[in-house]
Amino acid sequence: MQLAENQIDRYNRHILLKEVGGKGQEKFLNAKVLIIGVGGLGAPAAFYLASAGIGTLGIVDGDKVELSNLQRQIIHFTPDIYRTKVSSAEEKIKKLNPDVHVITYNERVTAHNISDIINHRDYDFIIEGTDNFPAKFLINDASFLLNKAYSHGGILKFQGQTLTYVPGTACYRCIFHSPPPKGVVPSCSEAGVLGAIAGTLGTIQATEALKYVLGTGKLITNRILHFNALEMEFRSIPVTKKPECPVCGKEPEISELKDYMQPECDLRQRSVKE
Ligand SMILES: [Zn+2]
Repeated sequence: MQLAENQIDRYNRHILLKEVGGKGQEKFLNAKVLIIGVGGLGAPAAFYLASAGIGTLGIVDGDKVELSNLQRQIIHFTPDIYRTKVSSAEEKIKKLNPDVHVITYNERVTAHNISDIINHRDYDFIIEGTDNFPAKFLINDASFLLNKAYSHGGILKFQGQTLTYVPGTACYRCIFHSPPPKGVVPSCSEAGVLGAIAGTLGTIQATEALKYVLGTGKLITNRILHFNALEMEFRSIPVTKKPECPVCGKEPEISELKDYMQPECDLRQRSVKE
């Protein structure tokens, strides 16, 4: 693929980087990234991946834009309220960069559809930007079973965390094993989140996707990057691949996908134990 004159201009600041150059920019234009959840994390990730010239962007979301989304989901604007998030995001991506081919999936990921979505265009990398634990575990397991690299992101209040999985490295389940019981970890809709945190984490996730496509730099693998905005501190916590992991371990319990339910938290039983 030869870069056109307007592409040489558009991607000039990439081409100037010795780690990217014309060849790296061509890799971006040939790459296919799937963004699952075009909310707080997926919105900035979509913007930066589109502006970088990622040639194919798949976006998956079954929700419609709501007024309370606009505090952090920066790809959606006030007139987009009640539109599907995928059509709102697709319009902005195309306006930002017509080089990008956008494929929309107006649905939530389930055990039934996730493999078909990932295999649809044989995506190179997945951005996990969902807001619930069952989806996070499902995406982890699907990525492992389909041999795909992905970036996990999570945000709450003034904090965020992210890790990158590449086949062979520690997966999300190596660290968190299984979804926590309902109510133990509050969601952003219950506990709140500073909107700008979504930008910080989503942008890190986009950066990981770009580095993965280039094959350069050190990814957030075998560690978790934790961000505390109140202290304005990043901590990199080493993690290891666990032989007893239920999905990537030696004797895995999970060999096919299923939809996960978060067990109900039995507070009464907990208080007796304590
Ligand atoms: Zn694992």
